Amino acid sequence: MVVDESSFQKVKDFAPQAWSIDLQNNNFTCPQQLIAMLGYPSQSVITLSQLFAAFEKNQVSLLKKHIRQVIDTGKPIIQTAILNAYQHRYIAEIVINPLPKNDKVITGTIELKQYFLTKQQELAFLKRIFAQSNEGLMIADINHTILIVNKAWCNNTGYQEHELLGQPASILKSGRYTQSFYQKLWSHVDEQKIWTGELLAKTKQGEVYAHEARIQRIDLPGQDHVYVSSSHRLDTSADLWDEDNPNASSKVHVPDKNAFSKKLNADYKQLSNDVTIVTLVFSVNLAQATSAVTRQWLVAQRFSQLSQRGHLGILNEKMFAAYWIVPKQMEDIEHTLKSALAALEGHNSYEDIGLSATVHGGASVLQIDASSPSQMLAHASQALIANSQGNDSSLYYFDRRLSKRFNRKATLATLLRQALTANKIEAYYQPIVALPELKIVKFEALCRVKLDTNIPYSVQELIEIAEEYNWIDQIDAAVTKQALHDLPILQKHYRSNSLGMSINRSVVNDRVSHCCLEDTLNIFEASDIDLGLITLELTESAYFDDSYYHSEWLDKLKARNIAIALDDFGTGYSSFSYLRQIPVNVVKIDRSFVSGLTEESNEYAMIDMLCKLTHKMGGKVIAEGVETQQELYLLSKLNADMLQGYIFSKPRSLADILATTQDNIYPHLSQHVYQENIINAHSIMRRDFPKIGPDDKLKTAVERFKKYQSRDLIVIEKSRCLGVLHQGDVNAAISPYLNTKGEQNRDLLTLNKRVHQVMHKSHIKVAINTTYEHLFEQFVNQPYTVAIVEGDSGICLGLITLEDMLLQHEHIANKH
Ligand code: C2E
Ligand code: MG
Ligand code: MG
Repeated sequence: MVVDESSFQKVKDFAPQAWSIDLQNNNFTCPQQLIAMLGYPSQSVITLSQLFAAFEKNQVSLLKKHIRQVIDTGKPIIQTAILNAYQHRYIAEIVINPLPKNDKVITGTIELKQYFLTKQQELAFLKRIFAQSNEGLMIADINHTILIVNKAWCNNTGYQEHELLGQPASILKSGRYTQSFYQKLWSHVDEQKIWTGELLAKTKQGEVYAHEARIQRIDLPGQDHVYVSSSHRLDTSADLWDEDNPNASSKVHVPDKNAFSKKLNADYKQLSNDVTIVTLVFSVNLAQATSAVTRQWLVAQRFSQLSQRGHLGILNEKMFAAYWIVPKQMEDIEHTLKSALAALEGHNSYEDIGLSATVHGGASVLQIDASSPSQMLAHASQALIANSQGNDSSLYYFDRRLSKRFNRKATLATLLRQALTANKIEAYYQPIVALPELKIVKFEALCRVKLDTNIPYSVQELIEIAEEYNWIDQIDAAVTKQALHDLPILQKHYRSNSLGMSINRSVVNDRVSHCCLEDTLNIFEASDIDLGLITLELTESAYFDDSYYHSEWLDKLKARNIAIALDDFGTGYSSFSYLRQIPVNVVKIDRSFVSGLTEESNEYAMIDMLCKLTHKMGGKVIAEGVETQQELYLLSKLNADMLQGYIFSKPRSLADILATTQDNIYPHLSQHVYQENIINAHSIMRRDFPKIGPDDKLKTAVERFKKYQSRDLIVIEKSRCLGVLHQGDVNAAISPYLNTKGEQNRDLLTLNKRVHQVMHKSHIKVAINTTYEHLFEQFVNQPYTVAIVEGDSGICLGLITLEDMLLQHEHIANKH
């Protein structure tokens, strides 16, 4: 609809018209022309309700209130009100006169001062404002389908209007955020009704740009709602680099070369003795086409997220400079530069994964290769220019000695990052076996990454790099998820529902987000696994640093039955007193204590103490890195609870494990287990026990019960056990008058009954190597008080009574 410009003009004002209301019949009288304008052309008088219908709702109650007030106070009132007349909206000035006493007619004047648009004109007007706004505006429906966009929106995105209408709003996605990021964003809008923030979006031409977006949810009558988004491209706006307002939250202040050098010089002059300055000159190439300003904005954003505060400057469109004041330690210098490089590549945050910026840097260190700020800048630039080729990020020091040291790790880091992006993280599983039966009770999930390189590397090294670059959360999450997924498969393979899983979790302290244990718990809870089967392995340093914070999360994990293991015990603080303070479920002795273990060594004494202390506190001990039979023997002698090491198996892939039909015990190794600590049928049973033949008389049985002070006799024939004769059953079978005054001959005859008539045949039979746990189960499940231990050929070797079992139980409890 075309809007007529003239309709905005102020129309000629109507002269004030007189009106009156007759309170007796509620009639409203005024000149005919006005009544016609109010919509009643054929009437000369209208009712009060007809009059009020012409006013907007809230104005009516005000008008009524004013009339009442004039009647009560006798003072005139002037009210301006919005009036709908002739489909236009007027501003009306209404004067209400005070009325003479007892008069029933109110009088006054009304002057129509100005009229405005019709509803339709108003709509058209608003639409034009919408269309012409400099701000990109977009309205989407409940399904995020684009309904309306304005020109600025089209300009920002490079699309024509018809290319956007009816499309999902996701057409503008930059591909820089994960699905869950968008889900979070939209649910924020739905809950809070508004979201504002900076977003990366993509133009039709595929160019990524940054914009400040504001998405508002507007609920309409009924169930419907729409989303109104306004957008402001950051790279086309000059105020991004507004030097006067460096603190504005969404804006980034980046000094140019002069300002940067000035700051560097000032800091150099005030430098204290224990620190130095490291300067980095770098270029950033984004795989996506972006404008120079967006690139600068991204660099500034990422730089500002570095935990090590530094100073950033722009040298030219492609080159940046930065410097940090750091301790005079090679590690600190390296760490600073590496974290900067990683952050600038943009792989630190989950949202950004996939943004492949290649960063080439040249570095110079004060007092190592340069003696002044200007020399540092020059050296750093030279190092960059001499080396900035290739598709992989690189960092070169002006001083070649430093470069060499750095490059190996940098290469591994680059490869690791690529592997991460390509989701090439795998979990391998290494069994943990329980002593003394050497049965697999759980697996440790260990991360494996195949890097595309000939450089030798270890998992430990990659884990350390990942920790340094803050990628470890991702690795841990991937391994954890896979391990939880694979556990039921392993349980099935080994036919054991009680098989557990042990998972490593790095807790890095200088992490911005401290919620890694929270993440872990979330992953656990999202799975169907019984959390009682999970052990979380934390290293000592993770445990003791920042203990206050972590303990809260550890308590939460424990409350859900997740066991906590202290990994690599002995390599960190290795203090027994610490162990007393923190209630861990499992202590894992580091391989360095285990390998080459001898009985005379200090390590042996230490493990001995550790086992005793841990058992006293109700925990269990796992020895890591068991490789030899000697180690196995000594560790079992020392009473370690579980063992892990190559002697049983190296970490293997799930497919590899499933391809072999190995049992979950290691019988060929059990001969190396310290026998005295083995508690099984063999060690518990009595070899010397009261026996009786099946054809013996009960008389003999009574004598034997008395002689051996025993309540059970084993019925033996040809060395085989035929049954058990319980004293109670014999008593029931013989006459109660025996040995009393009333004893008669026929009572004595009951003593002639044969053993086989009274004995029980359904006794427990167990093999000689039956474990204590298994025996225990048998005794619990069946109401018998004895178990017969049989050899392979069925020969009776011994007897275990309930008393024997209880004695063992007490013994074990005391030991732990
Ligand atoms: P760890 O947790 O102490 O794991 C035991 C390490 O010892 C594993 O090395 C395992 O392969 C190795 N090992 C086990 N038995 C023997 C043995 O008999 N002889 C020898 N020489 N080595 C044995 P791996 O897999 O290279 O892992 C090294 C370390 O990297 C792990 O030590 C753990 O601290 C860390 N790590 C591994 N996977 C992950 C992970 O997914 N997340 C985190 N945060 N750390 C992990
Ligand atoms: Mg571990
Ligand atoms: Mg370990």
